[in-house]
Amino acid sequence: MTKKESKNDDNFMEKIVSLAKRRGFIFQSSEIYGGINSIYDYGPLGVLLKNNLKKAWLKEMVQLNDNVVGLDSGILMHPKIWEASGHLEGFSDPLVDCKSCKKRFRADHLLEAEGLKPDFRPSEFKKHDLKCPECDGELTDVRDFNLMFKTFMGALESKTSEIYLRPETAQGIYVNFQNVFNSMKVKIPFGVAQIGKAFRNEITPGNFVFRMREFEQMEMQFFVHPKDADKWFKTWQERRMAWYLSLGMDKKKLKFRDHKKDELVHYAKQATDIEYDFPFQDRELEGIHNRSDFDLTQHEKHSKQDLKVNDLEAKEKYIPYIIETSGGCDRATLAFLIDAYTEVETRSGDKDAKHETEVVLKLHKDLAPIKVAILPLSKKLDKEARQVYDMLKTERMCDYDVTGSIGKRYRRHDEIGTPYCLTFDFDSLEDKKVTVRDRDTMKQDRVAIEELSDYFRERFNQ
Ligand code: ATP
Repeated sequence: MTKKESKNDDNFMEKIVSLAKRRGFIFQSSEIYGGINSIYDYGPLGVLLKNNLKKAWLKEMVQLNDNVVGLDSGILMHPKIWEASGHLEGFSDPLVDCKSCKKRFRADHLLEAEGLKPDFRPSEFKKHDLKCPECDGELTDVRDFNLMFKTFMGALESKTSEIYLRPETAQGIYVNFQNVFNSMKVKIPFGVAQIGKAFRNEITPGNFVFRMREFEQMEMQFFVHPKDADKWFKTWQERRMAWYLSLGMDKKKLKFRDHKKDELVHYAKQATDIEYDFPFQDRELEGIHNRSDFDLTQHEKHSKQDLKVNDLEAKEKYIPYIIETSGGCDRATLAFLIDAYTEVETRSGDKDAKHETEVVLKLHKDLAPIKVAILPLSKKLDKEARQVYDMLKTERMCDYDVTGSIGKRYRRHDEIGTPYCLTFDFDSLEDKKVTVRDRDTMKQDRVAIEELSDYFRERFNQ
């Protein structure tokens, strides 16, 4: 079966969810208690994959740019921040309930599904007289539903102790703009990058880790002179697309979607989404926005601090514009999993396998959770094979696997995307060589044990 056919399969997402669970990538949170909707836990391999993704992002954004620095700000912040940012007032989704089956929907999604313009002002929405898509029941009027999670800080649960879990990481960067500017040798243009958790009480979560209520963002805010904003918007738009491609994502599945003027959020001058062709309706992987001087102007107003930069050379004082790149770790992880998922004719030699096809996860080497699997052909070779593992594990993430038939072990490592499987056989005792199999080409090399480090360093580029 070819890759394309398998992805058009109706059950494709079920296959991904099942693989993710079976092989320890992603679990439903709190599963033994029946699960909690829209929260997921990353298992032993999922955490390795997601961390590799974050490492690749930090390398691309911080390590390779001398004008981008990192930050890790708090999840809980001063409540006034959400007043200044507009989240308290405007961070809401338009919501309708079905009066019969009690299901809840986003009004904009219902309109979109009908091919109507997503104008969900109550009066406009009423005009269309839409019915519940599940049971055809009558819908309530549209209500705004704030997506921020609220909690209390301190011992008293009162209005004055109300505080929010951040719905985006961006604000933590804006409120530290002055700190970063004054403590680092940065000059406009420069960026601040941050990876961290964000929380949104989404009304219609779903599609596995695509839309969750607790998720992780990778955001970079780039501060520029207003006259350079268009140029930087274009630069970052291209750079971000190139990043997904550099990690092996299928070019045919990726595209830009520019926001039309009437679709732009109030703070944005220009916006584009990088979309991945997920096997469901939602598409957005990452957003690139020209946020103008909105954020720093708002924080200047609300904090009463001067957030302008003083450009001595140009003899000019101004509030920088911000170009934002805002992606989700979980959506990217899901997209890479989907993209890498490939069904091939049986090739592992696993005699117990019930199916004629096997799954190979063709993850980019930098993303693969396990880089090299060390597989002794027999338990009798345990001691010597383990010495090879002990040597290689100091250099990269390896797995030592001695249980089950060799076919079963190959199959497992194909399914989790291990780029190289190394077998230690009886000849290895004599010739001090092992066989290394390449996941994608299936080519086998006989490599001297003492040359293994160099062999892999060359192939992993590190
Ligand atoms: P959508 O329209 O899909 O709700 P958004 O436009 O609200 O997304 P942003 O606020 O721009 O998204 O957030 C930036 C990125 O954070 C998104 O591109 C996405 O990758 C990620 N993200 C946003 N909401 C969620 C969520 N509920 N679950 C997982 N990732 C999310």
